[in-house]
Amino acid sequence: MKTKSIKHIIAPRPAHFVGDGFRVHNFIPSMPSLSMQEMSPFIMLDYGAKHHFPPSIHPRGVDVHPHRGFETVTIAYKGRVAHHDSAGNSGVIGEGDVQWMTAASGVLHKEYHDASWSKQGGDFQMVQLWVNLPAKDKMSTPKYQEISNDKMMKVPVGADSYIELIAGEYSGHKGPANTFTPVHLSNAKLKAGAEAQYSFPSHYNSGVLVIEGEALVNGEAIPENHFVSFMHDGENIEIKALQDSIILVLSGEPIHEPIAAHGPFVMNTREEIIQAFDDFQTGKFGYLEEGA
Ligand code: MN
Repeated sequence: MKTKSIKHIIAPRPAHFVGDGFRVHNFIPSMPSLSMQEMSPFIMLDYGAKHHFPPSIHPRGVDVHPHRGFETVTIAYKGRVAHHDSAGNSGVIGEGDVQWMTAASGVLHKEYHDASWSKQGGDFQMVQLWVNLPAKDKMSTPKYQEISNDKMMKVPVGADSYIELIAGEYSGHKGPANTFTPVHLSNAKLKAGAEAQYSFPSHYNSGVLVIEGEALVNGEAIPENHFVSFMHDGENIEIKALQDSIILVLSGEPIHEPIAAHGPFVMNTREEIIQAFDDFQTGKFGYLEEGA
């Protein structure tokens, strides 16, 4: 077993707002460094680095919008996010929780800061990841997995240090999320000096995002809010925390199919994108009331 060589170390690009509640740095796709295909099945990664929101009576966020053809995975690090969708699912996730929404054939949803959290305001920090679906599952029934922190397997890797497994495996333990293709997703929560050893097949696309702290990743010091991608020349990712750190680790088997992406729709062909717009405009995604 050999360590994976680092391909890119990507500093956060200037932040932009999604709606008025999500101030994010986009890492995937970040041309020319990381294309959707290059990180498949991870086709989008928006990172909301820690940001203070003052109290607000009206919750900030994103109003009703559609998705088709993939899954949205929201990981809350600070603050609370409320979700409602046209499939009838809703929930609030807080610090350490994950929401895994399979848009598949199509949903409308809205994402807002939780109303009671919004009234207090505070630090907000999150990741939204889009996981692509293989062609055969793109038009399957939408579903929703709320993965509260207590459902995650926590694998100890030293004193007060552990791997919090969301999906996939770590040293024989399995995370709670059901996925369509092989996906690993975890947070390494490490005290300074603690180490974690990951191993993924060399052909998987893999990345590491330093959410908090600083860590050596395969020997390179990676500062807070930086993303690392890897070559396909080895299996191992070795992380050593230089400070108390939280590190998001993702790895997945690539889906070798064409990607046709436009806004909230990710399909295989241009015709399917046109169909998605048509279905959205003719109300085939269902109904969801607007507003937080
Ligand atoms: Mn959305």
